[in-house]
Amino acid sequence: ERALLQVYRDRDTRTADGRHVDLYANIGSVADAKAAAEAGAEGIGLFRTEFLFMDRTALPDEEEQYQAYAQVSDLMAGKEVIIRTLDVGGDKGIAYLEMEREENPFLGHRAIRYCLDRPDLYRVQLRALLRAGARHGNIKIMLPLVSGVEEVRGARALLEECKAQLSAEGLAFDPHISLGIMVETPAAALIADLLAREADFFSIGTNDLTQYTIAVDRGNAKVEKLYTCYHPAVLRSIRSVIAAGKAAGIPVGMCGEAAADPRMIPLLLAFGLDEFSVSPSSILAARKQIADWNGPDALRTAEQAMALDTAAQVSDFLAQASASL
Ligand code: PEP
Ligand code: MG
Repeated sequence: ERALLQVYRDRDTRTADGRHVDLYANIGSVADAKAAAEAGAEGIGLFRTEFLFMDRTALPDEEEQYQAYAQVSDLMAGKEVIIRTLDVGGDKGIAYLEMEREENPFLGHRAIRYCLDRPDLYRVQLRALLRAGARHGNIKIMLPLVSGVEEVRGARALLEECKAQLSAEGLAFDPHISLGIMVETPAAALIADLLAREADFFSIGTNDLTQYTIAVDRGNAKVEKLYTCYHPAVLRSIRSVIAAGKAAGIPVGMCGEAAADPRMIPLLLAFGLDEFSVSPSSILAARKQIADWNGPDALRTAEQAMALDTAAQVSDFLAQASASL
C-alpha cells in the first residue's frame, strides 16, 4: 500500500477534474519538518510550537526559537510555513511556567489568553518569528484558541510593537508577515465574518472545535462516543466558516484531524476548503483521496450528507460514498 502511494509523492494535489488544493503538513519539531519535506508536503499548515517549550526547565530564549523557526523555514524554502504561537494550557502543561491549577483548564487561562496576559513572554516568540520571516518570506503567524476580535487586535498591536523594536535595533525581519487565526471555538466560528476582517487567513482546528461545539472532552473515554466531527453541528460550523472566509477573500485551511479523514474529503472539497494540513505520514494517502474525487460528485455527496440528521448516518453514508468511487 505505501509503495503504491509513492507515485503521489511528487505530484501536485488535484481533484479528478483538476482543481488544485494545498496539501500541507502538521509538525511539532524540526525533525518533523524533514519528514514533511520527504513526504512531499507542499508547505507546513501547523507548527505546534509548544513542543519547543515542553520537557525542559526554562523558556527557550529568542535566539533558540529563532533557530528552530529558521531551520523549518529553510527546509521549506519557497513553500509556506504556518507557525502557531504557544498553545499552552488545557491538555498541554509546561511545568516551569507555574500556571495555576484551574477547575476547567480547557475553558481557562490558556493559549492566546495566556500569551496576551504575558507580553513579556509573547514578545520573545513574536520577535523570533518576525526575524525568521526575513530569511525566505515564507513564515505566517497563527493564533490559537481565538474567541473574539479583541484577541486578534491585541496580538497585532504587540506584533507592531515588536516590529518597531526590531527596526530600532537594526535587525532584519519580515514587515509583511501574515497574521492568521485558528478557528476552533464555537464563538470564533459564529463570528467568522467579523474575524475575517482582522485575520489574514483561517485554519479550522476540528479537534477543539468538535470538543467545544458538542461540549465533550476530547480526552475522556467515557464520552468518546459523542466526540465526532460528523455531528451535524460540527459540519455546519465548518461549512459556514469556509463560506465566511471565502466571502471575505481570505484563504481557509484545516489542520485538525478531520482534514486527513477520507470520509470528510468530499465535504471539505465541496465547501471550498483551500488547504488541508495533515500529519507527514498521511500526506500521500490524502493526496490520493483528493485525486479520487471530482467536483460534481463531491458536491452531490456533500448535499446528501448535510441533509442527514445524526452523526452515525453521516458517517455511514460517507463511508459508502468513498467506497463506491
Ligand atoms: C485542533 O484543535 O484541531 C488543532 C489542530 O490543534 P491541537 O490539536 O493542537 O489543539
Ligand atoms: Mg486546538
